[in-house]
Amino acid sequence: MIKSILATCLGLLLFQACSSPEKQEEQSDKKVLFVIVDGIPDDVIDSVATPNLDKIIAEGGLMRATMGGEKDGYSQTPTISAVGYNSVLTGVWANKHNVWGNGIKDPNYHYPTIFKVFKEQFPEKTIGIFSTWLDNRTKLAGAGLTQTGNLTFDYHYDGMELDTVAYPHDEERIFIFNIDEAVSKNAAQTIQEHAPDLSWMYLEFTDDMSHKFGNSPQFVDAVEKSDVQLGRVWDAIQEREAKFNEDWLIVITTDHGRQDSGYGHGGQSERERSVWIATNSDQLNAHFAERGQTVDIFPSIANFLGLEISKEKAMELDGVPFIGAVDASQLRAVKKENTIELTWKPLSQENQGKVWVSTTNNFKTGGTDAYEAVGEVDLKSGSFTFSTEGMKSDFYKVVLETPSGYLNYWILEETE
Ligand SMILES: [Zn+2]
Repeated sequence: MIKSILATCLGLLLFQACSSPEKQEEQSDKKVLFVIVDGIPDDVIDSVATPNLDKIIAEGGLMRATMGGEKDGYSQTPTISAVGYNSVLTGVWANKHNVWGNGIKDPNYHYPTIFKVFKEQFPEKTIGIFSTWLDNRTKLAGAGLTQTGNLTFDYHYDGMELDTVAYPHDEERIFIFNIDEAVSKNAAQTIQEHAPDLSWMYLEFTDDMSHKFGNSPQFVDAVEKSDVQLGRVWDAIQEREAKFNEDWLIVITTDHGRQDSGYGHGGQSERERSVWIATNSDQLNAHFAERGQTVDIFPSIANFLGLEISKEKAMELDGVPFIGAVDASQLRAVKKENTIELTWKPLSQENQGKVWVSTTNNFKTGGTDAYEAVGEVDLKSGSFTFSTEGMKSDFYKVVLETPSGYLNYWILEETE
């Protein structure tokens, strides 16, 4: 699908028709809703009855995934809620987005959220957020902040956890369930009536029950309740597709797994890192059959929406798309004396790749990095080695360019 559009675009390029705004208007019926249901490890998704999620998976699929970056590596990311949400929103791990805990002390907005990238390209299109936690909009997405260019949500329904009159805080945390109910109903209604082009629904009750009761009937019940809430928005999406010429993508994930006991999370145990991604997409690629990562959601949504991500931003994204074209995954780089050895997994029949390296990290502060091309590679070979002589540095950003995008990996050498 994407390939044929690309071919048409190349053919039309001479007539400047492909990239004209009018043309994009005609294709503007693509809509995305992504959902984060808090703290559900992938074994729980397997064992608990989730009929609505199953309906969505039947149209697309379920991907096993990891939250947490490279374990013991430079991108290791705590399995903490806000850290997990922001990894989905920005498509990068905590070493870049700089959210390390629920306090959200100093997010690095130079790594833009999917909302920011979308609004930059399509200012006339609408974004929405339906959330049981206000900070998702005001701190992570950075709505109304100068750092995000005063990003504004066209539709938002959140902050109810601060309304102790309508939602008195009870010990059993039933008020959080009640807020999830209100959030999912508002999301469904907003989709039915306004169909925001890109929106996010966040539900919390599952995490609260697991913190309180661990692996328990109460947690199972909470997961089942969240599936009913998911069913509301899925029904709304199907109603839109039946009535209007709209093509909806839904992606559902969770922000982290849990310790074996079910109670806590935050560390790097296998169950804390084991998550899942469900979608209705019928454009799933070879990466979807691999173990994914929650940072894969950003480039997948971008591919679906036809977002044009600048080269310098695309070179920073830590995810690999599971929707649309993909050529490689699992890039790793190791420095051995005066060489850097790259390995990756080829996922297509494409041959031509290119390796870039930068020893600066100016992107982090809003600047531009000076990448040097170090070689052309045969993508199908899955490996490449280059010399670092003349590059005196203890920091290397290595990028593998493929016909469909970029993979990056950092090397940070210990300094004495
Ligand atoms: Zn969480």
